[in-house]
Amino acid sequence: MVNVRFKPHPFFIERAKASQERYDLIDAVFDGDGRYAMKKLKKKENRVCLFCGKSKPEVNFKSDAHLVSNHIGNTSLFSDFECHTCNLKFGKLEDDLAKFLGISKALAKLYQNKPEGYKGRHLSAHARSYLGNSLLILAPKDIKQEENKLVIRYTKNPYKPISVYKSLLKFSLSILPREEVKQNLPRALDFLADKLNATRGAYLSRYLLPFDRMSPLCIMVFKKKKGNDLLPTYIISFYLGNNIINLPLLLHEKDAFRNEEVEIILPPPYFFDERYLQEPVVDYGLRDFCSPQKVNDEVEELLLTLSEDFQHQLTTYDPVTNTTALRSLDGTPIHHLTIMKEGVNIDPKILASFTKD
Ligand SMILES: [Zn+2]
Repeated sequence: MVNVRFKPHPFFIERAKASQERYDLIDAVFDGDGRYAMKKLKKKENRVCLFCGKSKPEVNFKSDAHLVSNHIGNTSLFSDFECHTCNLKFGKLEDDLAKFLGISKALAKLYQNKPEGYKGRHLSAHARSYLGNSLLILAPKDIKQEENKLVIRYTKNPYKPISVYKSLLKFSLSILPREEVKQNLPRALDFLADKLNATRGAYLSRYLLPFDRMSPLCIMVFKKKKGNDLLPTYIISFYLGNNIINLPLLLHEKDAFRNEEVEIILPPPYFFDERYLQEPVVDYGLRDFCSPQKVNDEVEELLLTLSEDFQHQLTTYDPVTNTTALRSLDGTPIHHLTIMKEGVNIDPKILASFTKD
């Protein structure tokens, strides 16, 4: 078992109790985990791909594959069991995961060294919002201003639900014990390799935190306490910025519920930083991600809680006098909200062009 300091969110105490009665946390992987460091990787001649079963010379291992995508905040976790061919294939699935995570991921990156931007989709068809490599400008129509919070409404880029599920399934299989995957999860490997079709059961649940509450990358593995319990053996939780996603793994050989309705007991959102315990969390519940059809125009609302940290970084800009001033939000309506990477200078003409309407 793993000893990590965190607490369940107070809205989810009952869920935490139910989960802790039936499941143990058996592993937690953070960015920087030494078990997956570059220097631990096997020599390329000795590698076997977990996903297609092939080794050299049939396939090659020319890229150093990431254990989980670097799109989701991984900088230091590598794998030596993913061939180049599989790596390219899974990379396409991860694009869909990035689109599903949406604007939060891009916003998180605004605070990091390598902002990656959000492919030029206007936040709303009628409002002049914009997200570039190092800044986000939000038009009034995309912002709802309430007392000490702002709600941002935006449309996600189209994504395929099944690809979102498979990318997270792949990460799950990558961190579970190797022998366990080979012996008891061959159907999950087949599903990932498109050798097995399923029309339901690709469940994911999601919690959404305010977007100024970014969690460090963490993947937790929960295993049921009793082998004969009619529950999925494993549930994997992904902490990806302000998204927490749970994946109940339904394809374990020893799970006896094949054709019955499955009971799923989800872990609650856990918090590593106690200051965030009172933050609102949106629970999107379980949804089946089996569909290969693209989801277009999914609208999401993100909350910005205007914490003190955030207030301290607030500057107002007056396009008439072309001057800026440090100030906190005092209830004055916001015309446009611009969020940018620290140290970035924006041409006032660009700002002015957004503030004309
Ligand atoms: Zn492979």
